[in-house]
Amino acid sequence: MIISVASGKGGTGKTLVATSLALSLKDKQKVQLLDCDVEEPNDHIFLKPVITGSEAVCIPIPEVDEKKCSYCGKCAEVCAYHAIAVILKNILVFPQLCHGCGACSYLCPEEAITEVGREIGVVECGHSDGIDFVQGKLNVGEAMPTPVIRRVKAKTNRDGIVISDVSPGTSCPVVESIKDSDFCLLVTEPTPFGLNDLILAVETVKELRVPCGVVINRDGVGDGKVEEYCLRESIPVLLTIPQDTKIARLSSRGIALVEGMPQWRKSFIELFDRIWEIVDERSRCLKR
Ligand code: SF4
Ligand code: SF4
Repeated sequence: MIISVASGKGGTGKTLVATSLALSLKDKQKVQLLDCDVEEPNDHIFLKPVITGSEAVCIPIPEVDEKKCSYCGKCAEVCAYHAIAVILKNILVFPQLCHGCGACSYLCPEEAITEVGREIGVVECGHSDGIDFVQGKLNVGEAMPTPVIRRVKAKTNRDGIVISDVSPGTSCPVVESIKDSDFCLLVTEPTPFGLNDLILAVETVKELRVPCGVVINRDGVGDGKVEEYCLRESIPVLLTIPQDTKIARLSSRGIALVEGMPQWRKSFIELFDRIWEIVDERSRCLKR
């Protein structure tokens, strides 16, 4: 089973939930944690994994042989991302804008374009106290996290439970991370901002046809509107974590909740059991 841990908004406690869920399940079954939040991966701060391997993630960008080029402009015409421009007898490539789609080299009538790899990030693999760990890191200044996320997901090992920590928001990287999941946990906080972004996140997972449930973090800081919304939309609230300075202190020191406060382990195991029931029930309904 693949469980994505997402949030419409940053800073809601997604990492807290992903790492505590992984640590709570590791003694019961095989667990893999994928940190797909490649622009700011931070699960490693809490899990302190031993990294055993790393590989570069490259995208193919065009290199033009100007001896062959007739400056016809076809490449600039087909590039949807304005990553290549032809101005009189000059041809310019903007590597940061190139999505590596290959259209320009495929359609160049003079075969003047070859593709060269450009490194945009790295995928690291390792382990942490029985948890299989994979994280992606997008290089600073790069604008395209999706290829790095795809490479992290290529390491998915479906032998056990896979927990995928997704970037905040509802943009392309989030869709790429969530789309093959069996379940999506949406972590939110009970504030107007939290509710606004939760609604956007729910719409996204509904489009992807991934069942979801909500974890309310910092319960007590806001109002009851998130719960009202979940009730109205029949979205289960699976776990509530209170606003507690002890929890905040643990996070600021890089200590996972269930390690600093082991009494929470039971709640995370129960959270998983409820997810299991929902996924199981749904798969039985789909078979009917
Ligand atoms: S399509 Fe090929 S020949 Fe035409 S301008 Fe681009 S690189 Fe040059
Ligand atoms: S590979 Fe695609 S995105 Fe990059 S310059 Fe060529 S057409 Fe544009």
